[in-house]
Amino acid sequence: MCWKRKKGFFYHRGRKRERIMAYHISTRCQHLEGQNKEEHYGAISYPIYPSSAFIHQEVGGKNPYDYSRLQNPTRAQLEKVVASLEHGTDCIALSSGIAALACIMELFRPGDHIIIDRDLYGGSIRYFREVNEKNGLQFSRVSLHEDGWEKEVKENTKAIFLESPTNPCMNVNDIEALGKFCKAHNLLLIVDNTFLSPYFQNPLDLGADIVLHSGTKFLSGHHDAIAGFIVVKDEALQERLRFLFKTTGAGLDAFDSWLILRGIKTLAIRMEKAQENSLKIAEFLEKHPKVKRVLYPGLPNHPGHELMKKQARGFGAMISFDVESGEEAKEILKRIQLIYFAESLGGTESLLTYPLTQTHADVPKEILAENGIYETTLRLSVGIEDAEDLISDLKQALG
Ligand SMILES: *Cc1c(COP(=O)(O)O)cnc(C)c1O
Repeated sequence: MCWKRKKGFFYHRGRKRERIMAYHISTRCQHLEGQNKEEHYGAISYPIYPSSAFIHQEVGGKNPYDYSRLQNPTRAQLEKVVASLEHGTDCIALSSGIAALACIMELFRPGDHIIIDRDLYGGSIRYFREVNEKNGLQFSRVSLHEDGWEKEVKENTKAIFLESPTNPCMNVNDIEALGKFCKAHNLLLIVDNTFLSPYFQNPLDLGADIVLHSGTKFLSGHHDAIAGFIVVKDEALQERLRFLFKTTGAGLDAFDSWLILRGIKTLAIRMEKAQENSLKIAEFLEKHPKVKRVLYPGLPNHPGHELMKKQARGFGAMISFDVESGEEAKEILKRIQLIYFAESLGGTESLLTYPLTQTHADVPKEILAENGIYETTLRLSVGIEDAEDLISDLKQALG
């Protein structure tokens, strides 16, 4: 085998990056960068290396692998693939999306101030409030998709953190405008791109400095692994994050790395089908007399629809909707038969989630109400089943 080490990131000798990048993304999900016909006996499925340590022939020898907390061949292959799909120069694969967030937040010191969007995954809000604040970081919660948040920028502001579309209210943030703002004010722009996956949106191209993923969701795609990714395009940031990663130690193991590599092979086809289903379901929900609000940016009346057309290649497969009462929402969760009542998203099976007691259980009630998450709110992650079957299930559950 032949390996090349480049600035803390291991490249497998293999298909040329330029050639791979010229392909469409659906092709790039199959013909992964770095996969070489001559290596690994021509294995098409990348091998799993469950080795914690690697042997050296001599001090300063050629083997770039030492110890799997730092780097592992299967993880390195996955990192290269995700970096390529997100148009980054480096990617770090971690044991969860929250581990990725925790690693990113180690970039900051006590006294630093960070502007965060109001509507975020509940676990991110919990991390900022319960861990970072205790350790001296300061946060301002703002609505980035509305005017007036700029006044929150202070001398010690270091970054802006957002999702787009947001979880679960599906607000769309103007990543390009925010990227320009951050550049002008010397702030880092951190974007959680979990909801769209690199198939539909590439925040680094729009001016983000750091992209974060819960790889558990669309990248894995099968509800069978927990993973997180950090993707960057700046060398200094890459070096610092690699150092923090090795120091804090939440690397993804070889088997889960392989599961996500396998999931990515069907990313394109899964995203397309789930999105196609989503539009049909959103249109059905919008017309249903018992549904009071439908939040899906693929609907032309969604306030973020036009912006999303500009900055993304699709609208994704997440829909939030409100019914008449909290009791009704709980009844629907009992009545669904095909769709599962479960807390996650992005897999091939459709899941219905109750944000109030699940994803956002630790977020204070007043914050939830301000954000527009009520006891009537349900969040649907649309899978790749037949749209008609999904709609029939929702129809019988809505009553
Ligand atoms: C699930 C999720 C996370 C957290 O990721 P884990 O893999 O569960 O740790 C972060 N952001 C968003 C948008 C998510 O949906």
